[in-house]
Amino acid sequence: MLFFEKGSLKFSKYRCMQCGVCLSTCPNSALCAAKGSRCYSIKIDENRCVSCGKCVRICPATTSNSSMTPRPELLALARGFIARSVDESLRKMASSGGVCRVLIERALAGVKYDAVYTLIYPAVGTNGRPCGEAEGEWLTEPVQQERIPGSLYRPVLWGKHLCQVNPEWSDLLIIGLPCQIRAAQKMLQTASPSVRLTTVTILCRKQKSFGHSQYLLRYFKEDENNLHSVFYRGNGWPGTSGVWNEKGKKEIPFFYYAKCWNLPGCDYCSDCINAAVTDLTVADPWGIVAPEENPLGSNLVVSWTKAGHELLESLREFLTIQSISKEHLVNTLDFPQINAKANFQELSAWHRSYIHIQRRIGEIILHYCHHDSPLLTIQFILKGKIKSALSRLKGVKV
Ligand SMILES: Cc1cc2nc3c(=O)[nH]c(=O)nc-3n(C[C@H](O)[C@H](O)[C@H](O)COP(=O)(O)OP(=O)(O)OC[C@H]3O[C@@H](n4cnc5c(N)ncnc54)[C@H](O)[C@@H]3O)c2cc1C
Ligand code: SF4
Ligand code: SF4
Ligand code: SF4
Repeated sequence: MLFFEKGSLKFSKYRCMQCGVCLSTCPNSALCAAKGSRCYSIKIDENRCVSCGKCVRICPATTSNSSMTPRPELLALARGFIARSVDESLRKMASSGGVCRVLIERALAGVKYDAVYTLIYPAVGTNGRPCGEAEGEWLTEPVQQERIPGSLYRPVLWGKHLCQVNPEWSDLLIIGLPCQIRAAQKMLQTASPSVRLTTVTILCRKQKSFGHSQYLLRYFKEDENNLHSVFYRGNGWPGTSGVWNEKGKKEIPFFYYAKCWNLPGCDYCSDCINAAVTDLTVADPWGIVAPEENPLGSNLVVSWTKAGHELLESLREFLTIQSISKEHLVNTLDFPQINAKANFQELSAWHRSYIHIQRRIGEIILHYCHHDSPLLTIQFILKGKIKSALSRLKGVKV
């Protein structure tokens, strides 16, 4: 989070959501990012900063939570769908059903959008694997699908190149996480007020940290410097996570331990669906489609606006789209849980510290266990889910 204290600009990593948009905002190039062990820190060059406040105004961490808390009445406008790419090879690469990669491909192959902003790898090697670190980029032509990452559960500098808007562009599509979309909207509304923005939000319930990557490195006894990439999901649903090195791919079933993935800034992120500000939200269809019914994956897609609905409808040739009832949509989005997160900011300092300590203990156990099964067992015991814990103790794998 960027803020002014006694007239000078300061950065707090405890509130930073790692969207990277501030890097693109500063007219004097006074900001840069330095990679730390858990997340990026934003460094301020005091000789260049003129205290104009532009970066502070777009920083999503400065938005008050109450203004971002999703209001259940928005559901009256929403329409829910289960959607998936008709192309099975795309679904195998995708995190869920491949809706995002179909959107990127079709938005650029058609004439509707001048450019699409999305997270992307800089290149694909001769071995077909992505190289380099994924960053946000404006695309004007379709790219190799291998360059589009599946869900990356770690900080990435998504917003770094957002300012590179060509003045001739008028219709733009942006795909990103809620914090990234919020910051991008604020920035582009000021920097390029005449462009028409359509936004696709990737639902995100605080799952972004280096912790998960570090766990994978430890699990496979890999050195970060010899590694091509760490990947999560993909290869169907729920898919696998693992590492690529020069000898190839090592993978394990994808597992869920959200608390170990958490970044402090994510605790303050109040709206995981961006209902009030986005055109489409894409997610996994938890609770609606069981993985065994649909091994290659599907998306839950919510259209909140006319523009979002029209965009989805225009893809009927490339996506299988099935309408779902309001009841299903409400249950899946789980508004009480979303609001509980929004209220985190209101918790007492003691309660927040307690949650952080719990999380730290989880990470330490993860470090020494080299498998998440004991962790999940402890989690189930703490939640009173004794039956699940017993089945885990009997050796049931994730
Ligand atoms: C950090 C994170 C947390 C998530 N948490 C949940 C959750 O709790 N519940 C749920 O239902 N769904 C969650 N999702 C969404 C889900 O994993 C899929 O990303 C979503 O359903 C889209 O699937 P797809 O098949 O259309 O994606 P694909 O077609 O495979 O395309 C993936 C898209 O995601 C973009 N992308 C990947 N990682 C990032 C990132 N870190 N920042 C910005 N863009 C990125 C890519 O650029 C691409 O546009 C999360 C995603 C992420 C990245
Ligand atoms: S206050 Fe203005 S000059 Fe200083 S870092 Fe932020 S955008 Fe740049
Ligand atoms: S939340 Fe985003 S805009 Fe704010 S400091 Fe962090 S990276 Fe920069
Ligand atoms: S929870 Fe997700 S959307 Fe919210 S700040 Fe963290 S990464 Fe961004």
